[in-house]
Amino acid sequence: MEKILVIGACGQLGTDLTGELRRVFGRDRVIASDLKASSDVMKYGPFETLDVTKINSIIDLIKKHEITQIYNLASILSAKAEQNAKLAWDVNITGLLNTLEIAREKRVQRVFWPSSIAVFGPGTPSDHTPQVTIMDPKTVYGISKLAGERWCEYYHDHYDVDVRSLRYPGLISHSAPPGGGTTDYAVDMYHKALKEGSFVSYLAEDTSLPFMYMNDAIKATMQLMEAEANCIKVRSSYNVGAFSISPGDIATSIKEHIPDFTISYRPDYRQRIAESWPHSIDDSVARKEWGWQHDFDLKKMTRDMLEKLDNLTFRG
Ligand code: NAD
Repeated sequence: MEKILVIGACGQLGTDLTGELRRVFGRDRVIASDLKASSDVMKYGPFETLDVTKINSIIDLIKKHEITQIYNLASILSAKAEQNAKLAWDVNITGLLNTLEIAREKRVQRVFWPSSIAVFGPGTPSDHTPQVTIMDPKTVYGISKLAGERWCEYYHDHYDVDVRSLRYPGLISHSAPPGGGTTDYAVDMYHKALKEGSFVSYLAEDTSLPFMYMNDAIKATMQLMEAEANCIKVRSSYNVGAFSISPGDIATSIKEHIPDFTISYRPDYRQRIAESWPHSIDDSVARKEWGWQHDFDLKKMTRDMLEKLDNLTFRG
């Protein structure tokens, strides 16, 4: 029976993923950890304060709770990483190497670590970006994720570490706020549409990027981690996609439910980051090797987001 440590559990992905892991494995078999606590994660099961850059603290927790799997979600995201490159490298790379070393020493059996579409850059084919292609990231975050992917593959090939990874696109969720990425605007637009009826986008109207609803991101993660090891041929990170949308597309979709909603555009420094990323992702390798399939498109996601946020905003 697995005993799971989630590092970075209080973030946008961790809040939902920890909840689902607890539903599947049992609340006491999933230990949430983060630099700082969040009540959403703490009230439903065990929580430990942990800094991913401190390997001895991770080892202590692994011994204390007899952990068999680590989900290392701790990260400094794209927009924040541009402001503090050294911190981003420490958290994103030292943190990853700590968890890979722990797995190399056979203290745990399996590691999950997320990569991102930020590993791609302006030289990458931007439509239907293939699994293997030119990768020339121009951001601190993208450079760290690309280096991280190489380390994952290295630890698998040289030390037989069972590490698994997904290149998530922008994630959209109603439950936890995003943590400083370039695609955060999408979540914010749904909140502001309900609360204020208008939104100012920091990306231009037609800036199209790959996105995924959180339900699908959780499904992909659980499916990848449950797959037989011999099905997982890619040990750097898998392309996974759902749909590609721009701020204008989301606004149109919201207007189907809130006709008076208005949007204006004031691109800032994040526009350049977005322009260096792909428009759409070819995830056929993930679909073939471990059966990846998404459930949510833009229309279905918008309906669900507005319904869930409306309940939170207007009914407590
Ligand atoms: P987030 O910023 O919301 O959460 C990250 C969490 O890590 C935070 O709770 C933060 O407190 C914690 N953290 C930071 N430094 C830490 C440290 N030293 N030790 C322990 N915890 C620390 O990010 P997220 O959106 O939940 O992303 C989770 C993972 O998914 C990251 O690896 C991210 O790069 C990846 N990802 C996310 C997206 C997205 O759109 N959210 C897209 C692609 C990839």
